[in-house]
Amino acid sequence: MSAYSLGALLYEGKAKRVFATDQADLVAVEYKDDATAFNALKKAQLAGKGELNCRISALLFEHLAARGVPTHYLGVDGATWMLVKPVKVIPIEVVIRNVAAGSLCKQMPIEQGTVLEPPLLDLYYKDDAYGDPLLTEARLERLALVTPEQRQAIEALARQVNRELASLFLGVGLQLVDFKIELGFTASGELVVADEISPDTCRLWDVSVSDVQQRILDKDRFRQDLGGVVEAYGEVFKRVQGVCPEPRVYG
Ligand code: UDP
Repeated sequence: MSAYSLGALLYEGKAKRVFATDQADLVAVEYKDDATAFNALKKAQLAGKGELNCRISALLFEHLAARGVPTHYLGVDGATWMLVKPVKVIPIEVVIRNVAAGSLCKQMPIEQGTVLEPPLLDLYYKDDAYGDPLLTEARLERLALVTPEQRQAIEALARQVNRELASLFLGVGLQLVDFKIELGFTASGELVVADEISPDTCRLWDVSVSDVQQRILDKDRFRQDLGGVVEAYGEVFKRVQGVCPEPRVYG
């Protein structure tokens, strides 16, 4: 690593470690090979997953930046390290669904594969101890996590991310079924997309494959024990690499 040195471990999550650096306006994120699902009830080590998620996230953040979407991303350093702006992450997971899948189909009489137009936006309270519950309007108000204006800005930004990514992925034969993003405020108060955007946090189906299992190129391969998880992530990487700006190397 260059131009900065690593400081204390600030936080260790299921798939990443976050470190302070000797620069107040710089945080280093290490992507790990750990895979978890079902609130970490299912766990595995998948060699190469950390690198692929770091590289895919960097490509997608570069693309979003080029399209004027504010993110915490500053660059990469090596295969598994990403440099980001420190942000105060809002404890809300924003999920946008273009096609019905996953929890939506378990909780509602909506058939998997149903196109959702306009895309469905769901907010979840980000807290593993409570199992990341779906937020209602009233609960969101009660928790007062954000002001109504901030909530509007969060939803508008998430919808912009959806438009940009859905069209990017479609261009390389991938359907963006749904995804989760986290957002935060920088020291200067700017709302930005934080965390990661990768096959761990998106559902991606290969549009040229009709088999409902073989078309899956995301973490559902791990959740459903379909095998070929790292290979699927590699395929996503290969495709988006061809259409995104080269990730900048920090420092
Ligand atoms: N997701 C995520 N982290 C979570 C929950 C969901 O990244 O803690 C992503 C998930 O990979 C999918 C989308 O958000 O792309 C919608 O997930 P869903 O609500 O269907 O839940 P799941 O089926 O993953 O339990």
